[in-house]
Amino acid sequence: MELAPPRGTQDLLGDRADGMWRLYDEAHRSAELFGFRYVETPTFEHTELFARTAGDTSDVVTKEMYTFEDKGGRSLTLRPESTAGVVRAYLGHAHDLGSPFRGYYLGPQFRHGRPQAGRLREFRQFGVEVIGAAEPTADVEVIELGERFLRERGIERTTLHLNSIGDANCRPAYRERLIAYLEPFRDQLDEDCRTRLAKNPLRVFDCKVDGGKDFVRAAPTITDHLCDACRDHFAAVREGLDAAGVPYELDPRLVRGLDYYTRTAFEWVSGALAAAQSTINAGGRYDGLAAELGGADTPGVGFAMGLDRVLLALDAEGGRAPAGRTPRCFVVAIGSETQREGTRLVRALRDRGVSAIRSFAERPLKAQLRMADRAGAAYVAIIGERELAEGTVTLRRMADGEQWPVQVAALPERLAGETA
Ligand SMILES: [Zn+2]
Repeated sequence: MELAPPRGTQDLLGDRADGMWRLYDEAHRSAELFGFRYVETPTFEHTELFARTAGDTSDVVTKEMYTFEDKGGRSLTLRPESTAGVVRAYLGHAHDLGSPFRGYYLGPQFRHGRPQAGRLREFRQFGVEVIGAAEPTADVEVIELGERFLRERGIERTTLHLNSIGDANCRPAYRERLIAYLEPFRDQLDEDCRTRLAKNPLRVFDCKVDGGKDFVRAAPTITDHLCDACRDHFAAVREGLDAAGVPYELDPRLVRGLDYYTRTAFEWVSGALAAAQSTINAGGRYDGLAAELGGADTPGVGFAMGLDRVLLALDAEGGRAPAGRTPRCFVVAIGSETQREGTRLVRALRDRGVSAIRSFAERPLKAQLRMADRAGAAYVAIIGERELAEGTVTLRRMADGEQWPVQVAALPERLAGETA
Protein backbone atom coordinates (compact mmCIF):
# COMPACT_ATOMS: atom_id res chain seq x y z
CA MET A 1 0.00 0.00 0.00
CA GLU A 2 1.33 3.39 -1.07
CA LEU A 3 1.57 5.80 1.89
CA ALA A 4 1.99 8.93 -0.20
CA PRO A 5 -1.28 10.64 -1.15
CA PRO A 6 -2.34 10.82 -4.84
CA ARG A 7 -0.32 13.13 -7.08
CA GLY A 8 -1.38 16.75 -6.72
CA THR A 9 -2.84 16.34 -3.24
CA GLN A 10 -1.26 16.80 0.16
CA ASP A 11 -1.68 15.61 3.71
CA LEU A 12 -1.83 18.35 6.30
CA LEU A 13 -0.51 17.20 9.67
CA GLY A 14 1.09 18.84 12.68
CA ASP A 15 2.06 22.51 12.34
CA ARG A 16 0.93 22.65 8.70
CA ALA A 17 -2.53 21.46 9.65
CA ASP A 18 -2.61 23.89 12.57
CA GLY A 19 -1.72 26.71 10.19
CA MET A 20 -4.54 25.79 7.81
CA TRP A 21 -6.99 25.36 10.67
CA ARG A 22 -6.13 28.86 11.87
CA LEU A 23 -6.80 30.29 8.42
CA TYR A 24 -10.20 28.58 8.44
CA ASP A 25 -10.90 29.98 11.89
CA GLU A 26 -9.83 33.48 10.88
CA ALA A 27 -11.83 33.27 7.64
CA HIS A 28 -14.96 32.41 9.63
CA ARG A 29 -14.36 35.36 11.93
CA SER A 30 -13.58 37.86 9.12
CA ALA A 31 -16.66 36.85 7.15
CA GLU A 32 -18.88 37.03 10.22
CA LEU A 33 -17.53 40.51 10.99
CA PHE A 34 -18.76 41.65 7.57
CA GLY A 35 -22.13 39.96 8.02
CA PHE A 36 -21.58 37.07 5.61
CA ARG A 37 -23.46 33.79 6.24
CA TYR A 38 -21.73 30.42 5.98
CA VAL A 39 -22.63 28.33 2.90
CA GLU A 40 -21.82 24.71 2.05
CA THR A 41 -22.51 23.33 -1.38
CA PRO A 42 -21.69 19.84 -2.70
CA THR A 43 -18.13 18.92 -3.57
CA PHE A 44 -19.39 17.55 -6.90
CA GLU A 45 -22.04 19.00 -9.18
CA HIS A 46 -23.69 18.11 -12.46
CA THR A 47 -21.04 18.65 -15.13
CA GLU A 48 -23.49 20.89 -16.95
CA LEU A 49 -23.21 23.52 -14.20
CA PHE A 50 -19.56 24.15 -15.04
CA ALA A 51 -19.83 23.48 -18.77
CA ARG A 52 -22.55 26.14 -19.06
CA THR A 53 -20.89 28.79 -16.94
CA ALA A 54 -17.20 28.45 -17.61
CA GLY A 55 -17.34 28.95 -21.36
CA ASP A 56 -15.68 26.67 -23.83
CA THR A 57 -12.39 28.57 -24.06
CA SER A 58 -11.73 28.35 -20.35
CA ASP A 59 -8.79 26.18 -19.31
CA VAL A 60 -10.89 24.88 -16.46
CA VAL A 61 -13.40 23.32 -18.82
CA THR A 62 -11.13 22.29 -21.62
CA LYS A 63 -8.37 20.66 -19.62
CA GLU A 64 -8.76 20.64 -15.90
CA MET A 65 -12.07 19.21 -14.77
CA TYR A 66 -12.38 16.00 -12.79
CA THR A 67 -15.39 14.60 -14.60
CA PHE A 68 -16.78 11.12 -14.06
CA GLU A 69 -19.91 9.14 -14.64
CA ASP A 70 -21.72 7.85 -11.57
CA LYS A 71 -23.41 4.47 -11.37
CA GLY A 72 -26.63 6.01 -12.66
CA GLY A 73 -24.87 7.21 -15.80
CA ARG A 74 -24.94 10.91 -14.85
CA SER A 75 -21.97 13.07 -15.65
CA LEU A 76 -20.65 14.66 -12.46
CA THR A 77 -17.67 16.94 -11.87
CA LEU A 78 -15.64 17.71 -8.76
CA ARG A 79 -16.06 21.45 -8.36
CA PRO A 80 -13.19 23.43 -9.94
CA GLU A 81 -14.52 26.55 -8.22
CA SER A 82 -17.48 27.31 -5.98
CA THR A 83 -19.15 30.46 -7.31
CA ALA A 84 -21.36 28.59 -9.79
CA GLY A 85 -22.46 26.16 -7.07
CA VAL A 86 -23.17 28.90 -4.53
CA VAL A 87 -25.22 30.93 -7.04
CA ARG A 88 -27.09 27.76 -8.10
CA ALA A 89 -27.89 27.05 -4.45
CA TYR A 90 -28.94 30.65 -3.82
CA LEU A 91 -31.30 30.66 -6.80
CA GLY A 92 -32.98 27.59 -5.34
CA HIS A 93 -33.49 29.34 -1.98
CA ALA A 94 -33.74 32.98 -3.00
CA HIS A 95 -37.27 33.24 -1.67
CA ASP A 96 -36.16 32.39 1.88
CA LEU A 97 -32.82 34.15 1.83
CA GLY A 98 -33.88 37.48 0.36
CA SER A 99 -31.68 39.87 -1.53
CA PRO A 100 -28.93 40.89 -1.32
CA PHE A 101 -27.45 37.75 0.17
CA ARG A 102 -23.96 37.75 1.65
CA GLY A 103 -22.49 34.25 1.70
CA TYR A 104 -19.07 32.70 2.22
CA TYR A 105 -17.57 29.23 1.89
CA LEU A 106 -14.45 27.32 2.86
CA GLY A 107 -13.33 24.11 1.30
CA PRO A 108 -11.53 22.07 -1.34
CA GLN A 109 -11.67 22.65 -5.10
CA PHE A 110 -10.30 20.32 -7.76
CA ARG A 111 -8.44 20.97 -10.99
CA HIS A 112 -6.58 18.37 -12.94
CA GLY A 113 -3.59 20.49 -13.90
CA ARG A 114 0.11 19.71 -13.83
CA PRO A 115 0.83 19.83 -10.10
CA GLN A 116 3.55 22.00 -8.61
CA ALA A 117 4.03 23.92 -5.36
CA GLY A 118 1.13 26.33 -4.97
CA ARG A 119 -0.81 24.67 -7.80
CA LEU A 120 -2.22 21.44 -6.47
CA ARG A 121 -5.03 19.33 -7.92
CA GLU A 122 -6.91 19.59 -4.65
CA PHE A 123 -6.64 23.04 -3.10
CA ARG A 124 -8.51 25.00 -0.47
CA GLN A 125 -10.39 28.24 -0.95
CA PHE A 126 -12.03 30.86 1.20
CA GLY A 127 -14.58 32.65 -0.94
CA VAL A 128 -17.25 35.29 -0.41
CA GLU A 129 -20.18 36.23 -2.63
CA VAL A 130 -22.63 39.12 -2.51
CA ILE A 131 -25.61 38.00 -4.59
CA GLY A 132 -28.37 40.38 -5.62
CA ALA A 133 -26.47 43.68 -5.38
CA ALA A 134 -25.47 45.57 -8.52
CA GLU A 135 -24.09 48.56 -6.64
CA PRO A 136 -20.36 49.39 -6.70
CA THR A 137 -20.44 49.60 -2.90
CA ALA A 138 -20.85 45.80 -2.89
CA ASP A 139 -17.65 45.43 -4.94
CA VAL A 140 -15.87 47.71 -2.48
CA GLU A 141 -17.05 45.71 0.51
CA VAL A 142 -15.88 42.41 -0.98
CA ILE A 143 -12.46 43.87 -1.82
CA GLU A 144 -12.16 45.48 1.61
CA LEU A 145 -12.79 42.13 3.28
CA GLY A 146 -10.15 40.42 1.11
CA GLU A 147 -7.64 43.16 1.81
CA ARG A 148 -8.26 43.12 5.54
CA PHE A 149 -7.91 39.34 5.72
CA LEU A 150 -4.45 39.40 4.11
CA ARG A 151 -3.24 42.38 6.15
CA GLU A 152 -4.39 40.85 9.42
CA ARG A 153 -2.49 37.66 8.63
CA GLY A 154 0.66 39.77 8.31
CA ILE A 155 0.94 39.38 4.53
CA GLU A 156 2.47 42.60 3.23
CA ARG A 157 4.01 41.88 -0.14
CA THR A 158 0.84 41.75 -2.20
CA THR A 159 -0.50 44.15 -4.79
CA LEU A 160 -4.18 44.50 -5.59
CA HIS A 161 -4.71 44.67 -9.36
CA LEU A 162 -7.97 46.22 -10.51
CA ASN A 163 -9.79 46.49 -13.81
CA SER A 164 -13.22 46.71 -15.37
CA ILE A 165 -13.95 44.25 -18.17
CA GLY A 166 -17.24 45.86 -19.24
CA ASP A 167 -20.57 44.14 -19.70
CA ALA A 168 -22.92 42.79 -22.35
CA ASN A 169 -23.57 46.36 -23.44
CA CYS A 170 -20.03 47.47 -24.26
CA ARG A 171 -17.90 44.31 -24.44
CA PRO A 172 -19.16 43.01 -27.81
CA ALA A 173 -18.10 46.16 -29.66
CA TYR A 174 -14.75 46.14 -27.88
CA ARG A 175 -14.33 42.47 -28.70
CA GLU A 176 -14.76 43.25 -32.42
CA ARG A 177 -12.27 46.05 -32.16
CA LEU A 178 -9.74 43.78 -30.42
CA ILE A 179 -10.20 41.02 -33.01
CA ALA A 180 -9.68 43.55 -35.82
CA TYR A 181 -6.51 44.74 -34.09
CA LEU A 182 -5.11 41.24 -33.45
CA GLU A 183 -6.08 39.71 -36.81
CA PRO A 184 -2.96 41.01 -38.66
CA PHE A 185 -0.80 39.39 -35.93
CA ARG A 186 -2.52 36.00 -36.25
CA ASP A 187 0.68 34.31 -37.51
CA GLN A 188 2.55 35.44 -34.41
CA LEU A 189 0.03 33.85 -32.02
CA ASP A 190 0.38 30.30 -30.82
CA GLU A 191 -2.33 27.78 -31.54
CA ASP A 192 -4.04 28.22 -28.18
CA CYS A 193 -4.25 31.99 -28.66
CA ARG A 194 -5.66 31.67 -32.15
CA THR A 195 -8.51 29.68 -30.64
CA ARG A 196 -8.92 32.38 -27.99
CA LEU A 197 -8.92 35.04 -30.69
CA ALA A 198 -11.96 33.46 -32.27
CA LYS A 199 -13.91 32.70 -29.12
CA ASN A 200 -12.78 34.99 -26.32
CA PRO A 201 -10.12 37.42 -27.56
CA LEU A 202 -9.78 39.18 -24.18
CA ARG A 203 -8.06 36.06 -22.95
CA VAL A 204 -5.13 36.67 -25.29
CA PHE A 205 -4.02 39.15 -22.60
CA ASP A 206 -3.50 36.44 -20.00
CA CYS A 207 -1.98 33.95 -22.43
CA LYS A 208 1.25 32.60 -20.93
CA VAL A 209 2.95 32.41 -24.33
CA ASP A 210 1.81 35.55 -26.12
CA GLY A 211 0.44 37.78 -23.34
CA GLY A 212 3.74 39.62 -22.93
CA LYS A 213 4.45 40.28 -26.61
CA ASP A 214 4.70 43.93 -27.65
CA PHE A 215 1.78 43.87 -30.05
CA VAL A 216 -0.43 42.39 -27.30
CA ARG A 217 0.78 45.00 -24.83
CA ALA A 218 -0.10 47.71 -27.39
CA ALA A 219 -3.59 46.36 -28.10
CA PRO A 220 -6.62 48.52 -27.27
CA THR A 221 -7.86 47.83 -23.74
CA ILE A 222 -11.42 47.36 -22.57
CA THR A 223 -10.94 50.10 -19.99
CA ASP A 224 -10.78 52.67 -22.80
CA HIS A 225 -13.98 51.34 -24.38
CA LEU A 226 -16.41 51.06 -21.49
CA CYS A 227 -19.98 52.30 -21.85
CA ASP A 228 -21.08 55.18 -19.58
CA ALA A 229 -22.71 52.88 -17.04
CA CYS A 230 -19.63 50.66 -16.76
CA ARG A 231 -17.36 53.69 -16.56
CA ASP A 232 -19.45 55.22 -13.76
CA HIS A 233 -19.48 51.91 -11.91
CA PHE A 234 -15.72 51.57 -12.17
CA ALA A 235 -15.17 55.15 -11.01
CA ALA A 236 -17.40 54.54 -7.99
CA VAL A 237 -15.46 51.37 -7.09
CA ARG A 238 -12.18 53.27 -7.22
CA GLU A 239 -13.59 56.10 -5.12
CA GLY A 240 -14.88 53.62 -2.56
CA LEU A 241 -11.49 51.90 -2.33
CA ASP A 242 -9.74 55.25 -1.97
CA ALA A 243 -12.10 56.18 0.85
CA ALA A 244 -11.50 52.81 2.52
CA GLY A 245 -7.74 53.29 2.28
CA VAL A 246 -7.31 50.16 0.13
CA PRO A 247 -4.33 50.60 -2.23
CA TYR A 248 -4.62 49.18 -5.76
CA GLU A 249 -2.99 49.31 -9.16
CA LEU A 250 -5.04 49.74 -12.30
CA ASP A 251 -4.32 46.86 -14.65
CA PRO A 252 -6.13 47.31 -17.98
CA ARG A 253 -4.96 43.90 -19.19
CA LEU A 254 -6.41 41.99 -16.23
CA VAL A 255 -9.10 39.67 -17.60
CA ARG A 256 -10.97 36.69 -16.21
CA GLY A 257 -10.66 33.07 -17.21
CA LEU A 258 -14.38 32.48 -16.71
CA ASP A 259 -16.87 34.02 -19.10
CA TYR A 260 -19.60 35.09 -16.69
CA TYR A 261 -17.55 37.87 -15.11
CA THR A 262 -18.62 41.46 -15.84
CA ARG A 263 -17.34 44.90 -14.90
CA THR A 264 -15.06 44.83 -11.84
CA ALA A 265 -12.21 42.29 -11.95
CA PHE A 266 -9.47 42.17 -9.35
CA GLU A 267 -6.74 40.02 -7.90
CA TRP A 268 -4.10 40.14 -5.24
CA VAL A 269 -0.67 39.16 -6.50
CA SER A 270 2.08 38.19 -4.07
CA GLY A 271 5.58 39.46 -4.70
CA ALA A 272 6.89 36.68 -2.48
CA LEU A 273 5.73 33.76 -4.67
CA ALA A 274 6.84 32.53 -8.10
CA ALA A 275 4.98 34.28 -10.92
CA ALA A 276 2.94 31.26 -12.02
CA GLN A 277 1.49 30.77 -8.52
CA SER A 278 1.48 34.38 -7.32
CA THR A 279 -2.25 35.13 -7.49
CA ILE A 280 -3.48 34.41 -4.00
CA ASN A 281 -6.95 35.89 -4.31
CA ALA A 282 -8.99 36.63 -7.41
CA GLY A 283 -12.48 37.85 -7.90
CA GLY A 284 -14.91 40.11 -9.62
CA ARG A 285 -18.45 40.79 -10.63
CA TYR A 286 -20.54 38.13 -12.38
CA ASP A 287 -23.82 39.81 -13.28
CA GLY A 288 -24.43 37.34 -16.12
CA LEU A 289 -24.07 34.12 -14.15
CA ALA A 290 -27.55 33.67 -12.68
CA ALA A 291 -29.23 34.05 -16.07
CA GLU A 292 -26.74 31.58 -17.52
CA LEU A 293 -27.98 29.07 -14.94
CA GLY A 294 -31.57 29.66 -16.00
CA GLY A 295 -32.42 31.91 -13.04
CA ALA A 296 -33.71 35.46 -12.95
CA ASP A 297 -31.16 38.15 -13.72
CA THR A 298 -29.26 38.47 -10.44
CA PRO A 299 -26.07 40.49 -10.16
CA GLY A 300 -23.25 39.28 -7.94
CA VAL A 301 -19.68 39.93 -6.89
CA GLY A 302 -17.17 37.88 -4.92
CA PHE A 303 -13.66 36.54 -4.53
CA ALA A 304 -11.97 33.16 -4.12
CA MET A 305 -8.79 33.10 -2.08
CA GLY A 306 -6.30 30.23 -2.34
CA LEU A 307 -5.51 29.29 1.24
CA ASP A 308 -2.64 26.96 0.32
CA ARG A 309 -1.01 29.93 -1.38
CA VAL A 310 -1.72 32.17 1.61
CA LEU A 311 0.26 29.68 3.73
CA LEU A 312 3.09 29.68 1.16
CA ALA A 313 3.10 33.49 1.14
CA LEU A 314 3.30 33.51 4.94
CA ASP A 315 6.28 31.14 4.73
CA ALA A 316 7.94 33.19 2.00
CA GLU A 317 7.52 36.47 3.81
CA GLY A 318 8.99 34.92 6.94
CA GLY A 319 6.05 36.30 8.83
CA ARG A 320 4.15 34.97 11.76
CA ALA A 321 4.87 31.30 12.34
CA PRO A 322 1.62 29.40 12.64
CA ALA A 323 1.06 28.90 16.36
CA GLY A 324 0.63 25.25 17.27
CA ARG A 325 -2.72 24.10 18.58
CA THR A 326 -1.08 21.93 21.21
CA PRO A 327 -2.24 20.95 24.71
CA ARG A 328 -1.73 23.48 27.46
CA CYS A 329 -1.00 20.92 30.14
CA PHE A 330 0.30 17.37 30.23
CA VAL A 331 -0.53 15.68 33.53
CA VAL A 332 2.09 13.21 34.72
CA ALA A 333 1.01 10.82 37.46
CA ILE A 334 3.82 8.75 39.00
CA GLY A 335 2.97 5.47 40.71
CA SER A 336 -0.25 3.51 40.87
CA GLU A 337 -1.63 5.50 43.86
CA THR A 338 -1.79 8.73 41.89
CA GLN A 339 -3.48 7.50 38.70
CA ARG A 340 -7.00 8.33 39.81
CA GLU A 341 -5.95 11.83 40.86
CA GLY A 342 -4.21 12.35 37.50
CA THR A 343 -7.37 11.49 35.61
CA ARG A 344 -9.43 13.71 37.92
CA LEU A 345 -7.07 16.64 37.34
CA VAL A 346 -7.22 16.25 33.54
CA ARG A 347 -11.02 16.37 33.79
CA ALA A 348 -10.95 19.44 36.07
CA LEU A 349 -8.64 21.26 33.63
CA ARG A 350 -10.92 20.46 30.69
CA ASP A 351 -13.95 21.59 32.71
CA ARG A 352 -12.24 24.96 33.08
CA GLY A 353 -11.50 25.14 29.33
CA VAL A 354 -7.80 24.28 29.61
CA SER A 355 -6.68 21.68 27.06
CA ALA A 356 -5.07 18.80 28.92
CA ILE A 357 -3.92 15.25 28.25
CA ARG A 358 -2.07 12.48 29.97
CA SER A 359 -0.47 9.17 29.09
CA PHE A 360 -2.90 6.33 28.36
CA ALA A 361 -0.59 3.95 30.20
CA GLU A 362 1.49 4.20 33.36
CA ARG A 363 5.06 5.11 32.34
CA PRO A 364 8.27 6.24 34.08
CA LEU A 365 8.63 10.00 34.69
CA LYS A 366 11.29 10.43 32.00
CA ALA A 367 9.18 8.71 29.35
CA GLN A 368 6.17 10.85 30.22
CA LEU A 369 8.21 14.06 30.05
CA ARG A 370 9.33 13.03 26.57
CA MET A 371 5.71 12.46 25.60
CA ALA A 372 4.76 15.90 26.95
CA ASP A 373 7.56 17.49 24.95
CA ARG A 374 6.55 15.72 21.75
CA ALA A 375 2.92 16.71 22.28
CA GLY A 376 4.03 20.34 22.49
CA ALA A 377 2.51 20.89 25.94
CA ALA A 378 3.27 24.28 27.48
CA TYR A 379 3.18 22.88 31.03
CA VAL A 380 3.62 19.56 32.77
CA ALA A 381 1.80 19.00 36.07
CA ILE A 382 3.54 16.23 38.01
CA ILE A 383 1.73 14.28 40.71
CA GLY A 384 3.89 11.95 42.80
CA GLU A 385 3.13 10.42 46.18
CA ARG A 386 4.40 13.50 48.01
CA GLU A 387 2.23 15.86 45.93
CA LEU A 388 -0.75 13.56 46.41
CA ALA A 389 -0.30 13.74 50.20
CA GLU A 390 0.08 17.55 50.13
CA GLY A 391 -2.72 18.26 47.67
CA THR A 392 -0.28 19.92 45.26
CA VAL A 393 1.27 19.36 41.84
CA THR A 394 4.76 20.23 40.69
CA LEU A 395 4.17 22.52 37.75
CA ARG A 396 6.93 22.63 35.17
CA ARG A 397 7.06 25.23 32.43
CA MET A 398 8.43 23.43 29.38
CA ALA A 399 9.88 26.55 27.71
CA ASP A 400 12.55 27.03 30.41
CA GLY A 401 12.27 23.97 32.64
CA GLU A 402 11.46 26.08 35.68
CA GLN A 403 9.18 24.37 38.19
CA TRP A 404 7.33 25.15 41.41
CA PRO A 405 4.53 23.70 43.56
CA VAL A 406 0.91 24.71 42.97
CA GLN A 407 -2.20 23.75 44.97
CA VAL A 408 -3.99 21.17 42.83
CA ALA A 409 -7.35 22.85 43.39
CA ALA A 410 -5.95 26.16 42.11
CA LEU A 411 -4.31 24.79 38.95
CA PRO A 412 -7.25 24.95 36.50
CA GLU A 413 -7.96 28.58 37.36
CA ARG A 414 -4.26 29.40 37.26
CA LEU A 415 -3.72 27.98 33.73
CA ALA A 416 -7.04 29.30 32.44
CA GLY A 417 -6.04 32.80 33.47
CA GLU A 418 -2.77 32.79 31.57
CA THR A 419 -2.48 34.04 28.07
CA ALA A 420 -1.08 31.53 25.60
ZN1 LIG B 1 -20.64 48.48 -20.27
